[in-house]
Amino acid sequence: MARKTEVTKGAWVLAQPGFTGAGLDRADHLRLDEAGLAALMANADARLLRLADLDPVLDEDGALHWMSFAEIGVAESIFLGLDDGIPLFAPLVRTEAVGRRAWSVFRLIAMMSGRDAAIWGAARSLNEWHNRHLFCGVCGNDTESFRAGWGRRCGRCGAEHFPRVDPVVIMLAEHEGRVLLGRQPQYPAGRYSALAGFVEPGESIEEAVQRELFEEAGVRAIDVEYVASQPWPFPGSLMMACIARTDSDALTLDTNELEDAIWIDRAGIEAALAGDPDAPFQAPPPFAIANTLLTRWMERG
Ligand SMILES: [Zn+2]
Repeated sequence: MARKTEVTKGAWVLAQPGFTGAGLDRADHLRLDEAGLAALMANADARLLRLADLDPVLDEDGALHWMSFAEIGVAESIFLGLDDGIPLFAPLVRTEAVGRRAWSVFRLIAMMSGRDAAIWGAARSLNEWHNRHLFCGVCGNDTESFRAGWGRRCGRCGAEHFPRVDPVVIMLAEHEGRVLLGRQPQYPAGRYSALAGFVEPGESIEEAVQRELFEEAGVRAIDVEYVASQPWPFPGSLMMACIARTDSDALTLDTNELEDAIWIDRAGIEAALAGDPDAPFQAPPPFAIANTLLTRWMERG
C-alpha cells in the first residue's frame, strides 16, 4: 500500500510500523536556545502544522496541511524539529478534547503517509500531555511550557515535568501454527486484533506479555520474543509488539476485557490481510502495529 514505507529484505517486504518514519532532526540543542528558536520562527521557510483541535487537517492528497507563522497567530508553539533544514512547529492548543478521540480520526489516519502520521502523532501526544499537566504534580501551582514545548515548569516550586510515554505490550500467542486474536466490544463488526495491555511498574516487557495473556485469555506463555514497536498517539503510548509461544490452546477469557477470542491459522490471516470478504475476521488497519505483527508472523513462514 502506498501509505506504508516498505523495506525489502530478501524475498520479503517488511511492513514499517505506522506512526514511524518522521525522519526529523529533533534538534534538542535548540530547545533551550531562546534566540535560536526566535530566529527559526522568524525564518520565512518555517512551517506551522495546521490542527483541527487535536485532529489532523489534510489536503486532497491526504498530506498534512502546513502554514506560515504569518498566516496564523499562535500564542504558544511546539518545535517539532528540522526537516532538511526547514523548521517545523505545531501550535500548542488548549482543548476540551483531552482523553477523547472520535473513530472518524482513523479515516484520516488511513489516508496519511506513515511519515505524516508520525509527525502529527507526536504533535497530538505532546498537546494532550500539555493539557493534562497545566498544574504542577508536586505543589499544585500553574505550570508553563518550556524547552520549546518539550516540558513544563512550575513557577512556584521550580519542578520540571517532561512529556510521558506509556509503555503497552501487544502480542500474538502462538500455538502449533495458529495465533490468538481477541475482540473487544467496541471494535468494528468482524474485527479481531492482538491482545494488549499496559506495562505495570516493576515489570519487564516479557513479564507484562505473560501476565496479560494469562489475565485476558488464561494462556501461559513459555517464551516471549520482541518484534517491533510503534508510538500510538491516543494519548501517548509506545506499543511494543511481541510473539509468545504457548504450550496449550485452552482459553479462559476475561469477559470484562474480551468479548471473544479465536485461534487463527495462516490461511485465515492471509485472507484477512488481503481484505478477503470471506476471511474469518477483519484485520486491524495497516497503521496499527497489530497489522504489522500479523504481517511479520506470516513472513516468518
Ligand atoms: Zn510546583
